[in-house]
Amino acid sequence: MIVERPPDDFSIEKKISWAKRVFHRLRNQLLTDERITRLLERLRTAIAESRTERSRTGIVALCTACEQREGGSCCGAGMERRYSATLLLINLFLGVKLPEERMNPSSCFFLGNEGCRLMARHVICVNYLCKKITDKVSIPQLAALREKEGVELEVLFLLNERLRDILESRFYSSGSPETS
Ligand code: SF4
Ligand code: SF4
Repeated sequence: MIVERPPDDFSIEKKISWAKRVFHRLRNQLLTDERITRLLERLRTAIAESRTERSRTGIVALCTACEQREGGSCCGAGMERRYSATLLLINLFLGVKLPEERMNPSSCFFLGNEGCRLMARHVICVNYLCKKITDKVSIPQLAALREKEGVELEVLFLLNERLRDILESRFYSSGSPETS
């Protein structure tokens, strides 16, 4: 089965629609690739370990309080443009239900009532720590978190590359390649 290449403009709605279409049409075929299934499992584990570490440092509690008081001021509108259609496809493989609309006009498209609605996040989102956090969390705790996040980002990179390669070599029709 042939699909069109991912959209190369900034419309998050188009990227979401592409990801859903490809997931619906090619999920089973893509999951026959052992490397993809292995990397997906590794990614699930790595994200869970990062989250546990984030919670242990107290960052989750700090961000939750900040989101309730200030609307999670670091997740501003436009951040969603960083996301490629392939990264959204990976989120679908992880069981994420991609939102249909933005909850707040001044916030990122993916910000929900309980924080970020994605599981596989862009490197900028994973790495970002504001001053409120760096003032309160110790350096050894941050180092432990960075180690876990490093694994998460490495596995995500490998999975992203594998998906792009397979889609490129077996499933794309024609058109310009994804650039974001
Ligand atoms: S990273 Fe900083 S600004 Fe963003 S939600 Fe957490 S505490 Fe708030
Ligand atoms: S963490 Fe999630 S909600 Fe915040 S900017 Fe990144 S994608 Fe958007």
